[in-house]
Amino acid sequence: MSGRQSLARAIEAARRVVVFTGAGVSTESGVPDFRSPGGVWSKMKPIYFQDFVADEEKRREAWRRVYSGAARWTGARPNIGHLAVARLVAAGKASAVITQNVDNLHQESGVPDDKVIELHGNAHYARCLVCSHRYEFEEFRTGFLEREEIPVCRWCGGLVKSATISFGQPMPEEPMARAEAETLACDLFLVLGSSLVVYPAAGFPLLARQSGARLAIVNREPTDQDRFADIVVHDEIGPVMGEVVRL
Ligand code: ZN
Repeated sequence: MSGRQSLARAIEAARRVVVFTGAGVSTESGVPDFRSPGGVWSKMKPIYFQDFVADEEKRREAWRRVYSGAARWTGARPNIGHLAVARLVAAGKASAVITQNVDNLHQESGVPDDKVIELHGNAHYARCLVCSHRYEFEEFRTGFLEREEIPVCRWCGGLVKSATISFGQPMPEEPMARAEAETLACDLFLVLGSSLVVYPAAGFPLLARQSGARLAIVNREPTDQDRFADIVVHDEIGPVMGEVVRL
């Protein structure tokens, strides 16, 4: 039996699937994998969280990047891989999508907001770092682009930052806790397009395995955790998932 057939059967047999996605799902939509050679961080230096908080010039640079779309995290469209995942959720087969991506493409492909657990935040809006109030980028666009006004919270005066989790920023507690609960409750943990090297996110597949779930990994390249998986498919996500979910 091919890897694709095994995967299709495993999904069919599963009672509760959790899908875990990484950059590989979105590269097929043209969103760059920021860790790969030629990726975003090989072209522009990341702004560390501590620097954003401490240094006004770093904050200005961060907001310039927001409005220039420098990281190309926005503007892409979901691909067949996202649609296959959305289908699994809509069918009641998958209970949640845990993602390392910040591009909002799971939501845009039709997965309800409350089923998407974002471990690294979201690049489509901003939040106050103190009171967590959500702001749309549009609110600050004119002030920043015309007068270089660096956004602050209108409620508490705190710093406002793109809702992504930056390097050096603590992992968000609530999504981490939800991801753990979903992982422990599933009987099939399906990794799509993650090289599983960034911790603590990369700890979830093993947690699933230890709690008795089956583990399936679909990734173009081998991953460090292939040896723990029940099913491994080394291929593009979209074509594999499109066939497995029969889109
Ligand atoms: Zn605030």
